[in-house]
Amino acid sequence: MDIKIRTLTPLWTGGVDRTCDRLHETGIIGSLRWWYEAIVRGLGGYACDPTSEDPKTRCEFDAKSYEQAKRDGKPEAEAINAGLNSVCPVCYLFGTTGWARLFQLRAMEVPMTPLHFRTTIKMNQGWLKRVFGGENQNIDSLQVPYGELLFQFVSRRSDAEYARSQFALILRVAAEYGGIGARLQHGFGQFVFPMQVNDITLERGIQDLQAKLRMGVLRSSGPVVETPFDLRKLVSLTFEISKSQLNAFTTERTHIGKTNKREKNRYIPCAFDLRYKGTGNFGMRQWLKGKGWKETTDPQKLEELDILLGPRSQWGRGNNQGQIDDDFRTASRVFFGMPYQKPESKEVYILRVWAFLPPELQHRLPTPQALIAMLEEYMRHVFDTKAQKISAVLGKDILEQGAGGTK
Ligand SMILES: [Zn+2]
Repeated sequence: MDIKIRTLTPLWTGGVDRTCDRLHETGIIGSLRWWYEAIVRGLGGYACDPTSEDPKTRCEFDAKSYEQAKRDGKPEAEAINAGLNSVCPVCYLFGTTGWARLFQLRAMEVPMTPLHFRTTIKMNQGWLKRVFGGENQNIDSLQVPYGELLFQFVSRRSDAEYARSQFALILRVAAEYGGIGARLQHGFGQFVFPMQVNDITLERGIQDLQAKLRMGVLRSSGPVVETPFDLRKLVSLTFEISKSQLNAFTTERTHIGKTNKREKNRYIPCAFDLRYKGTGNFGMRQWLKGKGWKETTDPQKLEELDILLGPRSQWGRGNNQGQIDDDFRTASRVFFGMPYQKPESKEVYILRVWAFLPPELQHRLPTPQALIAMLEEYMRHVFDTKAQKISAVLGKDILEQGAGGTK
């Protein structure tokens, strides 16, 4: 089955060498898996942590039970089910030791565009060049996938319809409420849901998953995985912003990257300023700091801002310079897309802001509604009344809508 993905902002799929000069399928698969973990958890299913050191947390196909069932004369399908009792619903779809992924995704055509950013602060320019350009701090020659991407989706023979339904479910949630690929917090990975799987509604995808959970064949429990990435904790907001409100980002001196992108404004790669810090009112981190939110200067401790937006890469100067220990590194819970041009009107941009409620910040953000309120307040602070909220969705409602509103 062909799948056409039209991107609205470039993708970042960076491979092991951390470059992004071609599309790495593993980067896409990794983010699909990440979304699926959140969906499965959101429905009360168990999603293991495949990166865990603890073998009890990681799933593995139970070959012993499989062999035993075979010896007992059970038919193949039943023997496989016996082996699946130690495979969680996420590993069932995406594979784990002893169990192959239910589908393959091959990139067939991938148009590329030069990587570039827009930031109002010189220091941010240096930082972005370091993070994305590596050693030589040069991003001018880097390319990222952008445009009409063509993939081939090939499912294994077993449970092929289910694989397709779940693939569509993940793409729907990612397309409508988040993004795909890596470095989503930098605004990469917004895309249009592909029509090739349009026959699978959100409701159908969720019901197929619920039915699978109810069958009781797959692993349903294990050590608790501490994570905010649970769809019940997701909020996703979409705003329309008039072009003039983004003028600060479209001047020549804000641009870094290949010069031929300077005049291109279909999307504005300014997520860093929106999330972190920019001139004027831009910068959520800066805004929250002004409101008394704490940030760490201890390499072994995370404060409020570090939990919400990820720790700073370093702080202080000279002898006072510090950085967070690797064990304390954590991903941002808040994601700003790159504003992109509304198809019907070049004067209007669409901006998506989405976040997962961090359980550690109960005192600041007790509910998903409180998180929405904070994001809206920030948007008003930055854009005044020029940013119009188009939608605000709770992950809980996505799940309930999918379940036919019965829960
Ligand atoms: Zn698993």
